[in-house]
Amino acid sequence: MQEAALKAAGLEGSYRALETPPPFLRARLQEIRRDYSGVNITIPHKESVLPYLDELSPEARAIGAVNTIVCDQHRLIGYNTDAPGFISGLDEAGISYRHKKALILGAGGAARAIAYALKEEGAHIAVYNRTLERAQALCEALGLHLVTEPLLEAAVRSCDLLINTTSVGLQDPQSSPLPEGLLPCEGAVVDIIYNPSLTRLMQEAQKAGLPTLGGLPMLVWQGALAFELWTGVKPDVRVMYEAARAGLGEALQT
Ligand code: NAP
Repeated sequence: MQEAALKAAGLEGSYRALETPPPFLRARLQEIRRDYSGVNITIPHKESVLPYLDELSPEARAIGAVNTIVCDQHRLIGYNTDAPGFISGLDEAGISYRHKKALILGAGGAARAIAYALKEEGAHIAVYNRTLERAQALCEALGLHLVTEPLLEAAVRSCDLLINTTSVGLQDPQSSPLPEGLLPCEGAVVDIIYNPSLTRLMQEAQKAGLPTLGGLPMLVWQGALAFELWTGVKPDVRVMYEAARAGLGEALQT
């Protein structure tokens, strides 16, 4: 996706995966500081990378997680493009969120970024998570409404926007984070999982006639925003979508 965007913009460069086991994170960042224009950071380093950075954007600081680093004259600056990337995906799909009731399933790194982004846009946010303490911590940090097990059904049915940020359904089209039949009465359903492109939760929502959105738009837009931070150039997002779809098609076959 990033290489297709570089090519389309007529820029030289390459983008590749740098497998980095946790004990090698510090050394890897020294290498980045020396040799790279920037990197994305993914599981499990999005939070643990913070102490090694020279500067953080206000969003990354508030979210407590970084997915993009810009290397500027050997200084490492951390950003979070998952948050605005999620919002761009909603905008593109015409799903409204301002002053709406959003229910987030999950309380991990992606949930934190999405909760922060939606809150900035004036949504009313509730969080439900399998591990209550993690949801409590997120709600306390960002001032969100905590949903406990007995209140989950009512919270789901009454929300305008349901967002699955758990990994339930990842590479597993049979699993859903909610019991069968439990869906918003009228709200839209977003699943940020992009593999498979149609999760079980989305299938059930579509059968019930609800608007749905998968994880590909967030993936592409967080990448497009990172590209712009690294290069100063707005990428061709259509090219990035095509490349991401092709890449995921390949991933699904292996
Ligand atoms: P994370 O920090 O590890 O959080 C995982 C979340 O899933 C936690 O809330 C965890 O609950 C929950 N969970 C895991 N297994 C569960 C189960 N069996 N039942 C119920 N809850 C379960 O991961 P993350 O970085 O937030 O990523 C979460 C998902 O979002 C992944 O599928 C990832 O691929 C996707 N993602 C997509 C994009 C995109 O661009 N589309 C970007 C980032 C992430 P506990 O707290 O109880 O463990």
